Parts: sequence; structure tokens; C-alpha cells
Amino acid sequence: MKKFLSILLSVIIAFSLSVTIFAKSTDDKCDCGNIPVIFVTGFAYTELVANAGTEDEYGAFGVEPEAITDMITGLIAPLLWMLVSRDFDYFAHRLSADVMELFYDASCDENGVPKNPTVDIERFNPPTAEHYKDDYFTFRYDWRKDLFELAAELNDYIEDTKRLTKHDKVAIRAESMGGAVTMTYLKAYGYDSVETVVMQSSAFDGISTITSLFLGDLTINSQSLVNYIGNFMEGNAPDMVFYRAIYLSLAKFVFNPVVALLSAFIGSIDEIVYDECIKPLFGYIPGLWAFVTPEAYEDAKAFMLDEEVNAELIKKIDRYRYEVQDKRDEIIADAMANGVGFAILSNYGKGALPIGEDSVVQSDFLIETEHTSLGATCANYGETLGEDYVQAVNDGHNHLSSDGMIDASTCSFPEITWFVKDMMHTWYTDGYDEFVYKLIYNEGQETVHTFPEYPQFLVNNQETEALEPLTTENSDTQSTKVNIFALISTWIEQIKNAE
Ligand SMILES: [Zn+2]
Ligand SMILES: [Zn+2]
Repeated sequence: MKKFLSILLSVIIAFSLSVTIFAKSTDDKCDCGNIPVIFVTGFAYTELVANAGTEDEYGAFGVEPEAITDMITGLIAPLLWMLVSRDFDYFAHRLSADVMELFYDASCDENGVPKNPTVDIERFNPPTAEHYKDDYFTFRYDWRKDLFELAAELNDYIEDTKRLTKHDKVAIRAESMGGAVTMTYLKAYGYDSVETVVMQSSAFDGISTITSLFLGDLTINSQSLVNYIGNFMEGNAPDMVFYRAIYLSLAKFVFNPVVALLSAFIGSIDEIVYDECIKPLFGYIPGLWAFVTPEAYEDAKAFMLDEEVNAELIKKIDRYRYEVQDKRDEIIADAMANGVGFAILSNYGKGALPIGEDSVVQSDFLIETEHTSLGATCANYGETLGEDYVQAVNDGHNHLSSDGMIDASTCSFPEITWFVKDMMHTWYTDGYDEFVYKLIYNEGQETVHTFPEYPQFLVNNQETEALEPLTTENSDTQSTKVNIFALISTWIEQIKNAE
């Protein structure tokens, strides 16, 4: 009897042990079906604070309006003196010194090391065990840092997310500079922890207008200034079309003389301002070098930095340039070969920043479409590729947009690159998010042929905030055709509503 009992007991123990082990292994993984999503933010998304975490915390980059007012007031006398004496140099020295002081807390030394060691970001939104569908954890970072340092921080964040949510993999949606951080992460830590990457207006190929700044080209292009300010006139409501038509017919006459005057002024102070302010302020921040385009990198380095003085900094930025930016096509192809679903979302239909000779190009308001799409052939802003234009690479698909502005066949990855017209850089809508989550929750590698409702070319409907397939009917997002009857009834409506 005793023997029987002991056998029974051991069977029960063994069984319950195996049950515990079995239960534990299922418990260890979450089977909710909603992969945790990490949102890798862009440049300056999170504020820098000095004396981080103490009572004396204050903004280190978002400079207080009072400080700017003080600076401008202090510069009035030197400015007047300059106008009387034509002594531009004195003003340039004063301006440079004031700006350097204003941004001291956010600036770095010649090695790319922050000058004020108490400056950090506010690290809220850490990952949690709870995770929901159509939601994300926000990865914030100090965007001044070198990209490999940021990739290490992202790796910790991803590992924490996996451990807390009990998922083996995460999905990444990366915007703007976050695209460069994500590429560096994939290069340094591989693909095992990532199921999907959605690049949203990614800076992985640099930004031409920022590159102009790093090449010493401070030309203000008056046509692109017209385009840039016009970006804020969105939609085709009858009154907006009217204001746009007036604006476009008058803007050049107003801007041309102002820009000419401003350019002459910049031309007489830029050498001193570069040496005493722009180079040590912007050039010494490692993270900003992610925005320099690959072709111009060596020239920009030679212009902005000194091989000996900045040797330590150059080592850091060279590593990103040659191990990540240069290898970006390889990294993406390799990620896909290792089972990572990859999607590149690029916006167009907006004028670029008005810095530099070549800033009349197609853009999302901040990064040129050519760069966020990895090589699309784009007509200049407001123009088309021309009636006679033929798709550059014939792969059996149509990769030409119906508005004649984009040829996607020259992209590094034409089958996984989508274009959203009339969408500002990172000002996303519910319709855009819907598409991103569709890409994230759908299994496998999607292409521009996967969803009928999401073909290669989409347009952001300004009224409904939905993404729609681009057609010849909805492609004129910058209409100047004034409908006088619609305009008058809109005004009558507005007067009625005001009463
Ligand atoms: Zn889950
Ligand atoms: Zn194709």
C-alpha cells in the first residue's frame, strides 16, 4: 500500500511539475497577437533639459522667448552702428557670440561631447507590460549623440520591451532622424528582435537643404521661399484656392527684393558667423551629421571641421557615414532576407526649406522626396517630369505617378516604397496611422501590389484626413482655379456662422 501510495504521489508530483513547466512556458510568452510597436522619434522630438531631474531643471534647447528678446534688444545698437559705419565685422562677432551663449547648454565641444554634462532628455514613456493594438511605446533620445550611441539605447529599449511584454519581437515605426537611428540599430544588433520596420519620412539618406548649410551655401532661394510659405495653405476649399491664387501672383514681387537684400547682408557676415558660430554650434553635434547627404559628406566635413582639432568627432561621424549610410541598401536587403517586413513611406507635394541654390525640389516640407524614397526621380516642386517622360527602369510595372511628378522605378526598393502626396513631414493623420498599422499587423512582406486600397501613390485628403489612391481627379492638391460662386457662398456661410 505504502509503495502504491509513493508511486501515486510521485506520479502526481511529476505530473504537476510537468504541468507547471508547461504552464510556465506558455505563460512566458504573450499570445495576444498584437506585436508591441516602438515609435522611434525624430530630431528634437523630446526637449533637452539642463539639471535634468532636479528642482533647477530648465529647457536647454527650446530657448525661452525672453532670452531671444534680450538678445535682439542687445543687438539693436550694433546693428545701427553697422548701418552707419558699414562695419559688418563688428556686428558679425557680436551676433555669433550671442547665439553661442544662447545655445550653450545644447552645444558640444570639438570632440562632439556635450559641454554641459547635466543636460539630458526627459525619459518618460518607458515600455510597460501592458501593450495595446494600434498603440506604441515612444523611444525618446538625446538627438545630439552619435548614431551608434543612440542605436545602443534603442537596443536596450527593445530588450526591455520584449522582456516586459513577453513578446519575442517588436515592430518599429521610425520617423525622420529615427530612420537613421533604426538603420544603425539594424547594422549593429541584427534582425532577430524585429518583425517589421516602417520608415516614415526617414532621414537615412540625409537632407539636401541641411547639407547646403554644412557646405557654406546660405543662399536663400526666393522661389523656394515662395513654395515654402505656400506649404501652409493646405487643401482646396474655395477660399483657400482664392488666397493661394492671390499669394502666388504677388509673392515673388514682394520676396525678390527682400531676398536680394537679405542675401547681400548674409554674404557680408557669413564668413565670421560660420567660423565663430555655425561651425562650432552645428558642426560639433555628432547627431546632426546624419542629415548630410552621402555625396556631399566629405566636402561638408572639410568645410565644417578640422582634421586635427575634431579628430575624435570625425571618428564617430565617419563610422555612421561608412558603416551605415553607405551600406543602407545592403542593410535593408539583408533585413528582408532575414524575415523583417520592410516598408518605406515617402511624402511629396510640399516645397523644401529655402536654404541653398537647389532648394526648388519636391519635398515633404523638411526632407526632399528623393532622399526619403531612396532615389525616386522627382519633378521640381510645382512641375511635372514632362509629357514625353518615360519611366527610367522598365520592370513590367507602372512606377510613374498619375500626376507625372514621381518616377519610383529609380528607387533602391521600388516595390516597397509608397508615396503620400500633400502630407507634411511627420504631421500624421488618422488615415496615415491606419495604413502604418495595416503594414505592421499584416503577416509577411507587403509590396505596393498587396493592398488595392494602398497602391504605390496615395494622397492625403485634407478634408477627411484619409489616405486615398492618387488619381487624375484628386491629384491637384495646390489648385489655383478660383470658383467665384463657390467662393461667395463660402464667405456668406462664414459670415452667417460668425453671427
Ligand atoms: Zn501581447
Ligand atoms: Zn516594379
